[in-house]
Amino acid sequence: SYRKGGYHAVRVGDTFAGGRYIAQRKLGWGQFSTVWLAYDTQTSKYVALKIQKSAPEFAQSALHEIEVLSAITEGDPESKKCLIRLVDHFKHTGPNGQHLCMVLEFLGDSILQLIRYNRYKGLPLHKVREICRCILTGLDYLHRELGIIHTDLKPENILLLSTINPSKDPIRSKNGPILSRPEGGMNGGPVINAIEKKLKQRARRAVARISARRVSMGGGTPAAKPERCLDGIDFRCKVVDFGNACWGSTPIAEEIQTRQYRAPEVILQSGYTYSVDMWSFACTAFELATGEMMFAPKIGQGFSEDEDHLALMMEILGKMPRKISVGGLRSKEYFDRYGDLKRIRRLKSWPLSRLLVEKFKFSVNDAREFAEFLSPILDFAPEKRPTAEQCLQHPWLNKTSESGVDKVDAEMSKLQIKADK
Ligand code: ATP
Ligand code: MG
Ligand code: MG
Repeated sequence: SYRKGGYHAVRVGDTFAGGRYIAQRKLGWGQFSTVWLAYDTQTSKYVALKIQKSAPEFAQSALHEIEVLSAITEGDPESKKCLIRLVDHFKHTGPNGQHLCMVLEFLGDSILQLIRYNRYKGLPLHKVREICRCILTGLDYLHRELGIIHTDLKPENILLLSTINPSKDPIRSKNGPILSRPEGGMNGGPVINAIEKKLKQRARRAVARISARRVSMGGGTPAAKPERCLDGIDFRCKVVDFGNACWGSTPIAEEIQTRQYRAPEVILQSGYTYSVDMWSFACTAFELATGEMMFAPKIGQGFSEDEDHLALMMEILGKMPRKISVGGLRSKEYFDRYGDLKRIRRLKSWPLSRLLVEKFKFSVNDAREFAEFLSPILDFAPEKRPTAEQCLQHPWLNKTSESGVDKVDAEMSKLQIKADK
């Protein structure tokens, strides 16, 4: 893709915007761009430099992203809304054409990476709450104040705040451009890696401790909820990736959202609005707490991925009301006129709170409370889902610490394991 119309090739030390930004190391890439850690010589801070492919369709989509990001940044001068900020934007001409560049605040790992560090066991519930509060704060602002639908909310698009500070003492390279030297590292990479490594080691040691305890308890699982694994990691986070965001008044694309986080009305093409983000939010919260995707549909013999997806939803959330199942442009492909799936006839009911207890070993109380928080957001009727603003008021989010009831509950389940043995 490094050809005319495609990505711009960057080398460490390359400068941008008349020398203001200096490339330090590659952070990532996507379908549209490569993203570089860069040093901003004007503010002495690290930034993320997103360099879009140059072909007109990519430029068009970057302009849209810049428009959305500008609205977000201007409306939130104090940066309280848990959404990524746009610092600057400019054009950069290279051998492959003219590239729109976005300068974004530099953030850390995604919460998908966090789930991976934690070996897909799910995060402790008080951490899940913290992250949920951040996401909802962002969504509430986005929906109510800006009129924007994100349309691609998922763990990959929630980034932790970076704890890395740039050097206050950048040095000049021999050849002229200023190269920052953050705390002894040459280009930012080693320093960041070292801190990340330390955090990872700490997380790993904690996981190992817990696993050891679990073995000594005879292989039972419930008490092994990783309560202490991620202590010390800053859990503030921000919602990113506004490349697919749209104005609520004019939703354009038919097929939105990443498969596993896609709302039923999008699959059925019944029209959508802000509440699609709430659906994705609930799927994300579930994944944070359990380490597994809530819905991971697959194509099967005689049925499509869409149909499997609808079946999985109904297994956990109950039967879709007929009015909804037959109400979309694509309903006839999947449902008969009674509102039953045409090709997947037998559904295995596994209600959310039972699933949390039986498969993910939640205590009965934790499961009940978490399910009470999530279930209304996963209403098949989009207009019945609570808004982000309403969710922020929910008691589950505002619970401070483990209640006495939880502790008794946890002790009870430990005793139960011993009894089972
Ligand atoms: P997509 O195909 O996902 O739309 P894209 O080309 O629009 O890709 P992004 O998803 O915005 O690109 O960014 C690509 C990757 O760069 C991200 O997955 C992330 O790893 C990294 N990244 C993006 N923005 C930042 C940031 N502000 N701070 C740190 N890393 C970032
Ligand atoms: Mg992305
Ligand atoms: Mg994008």
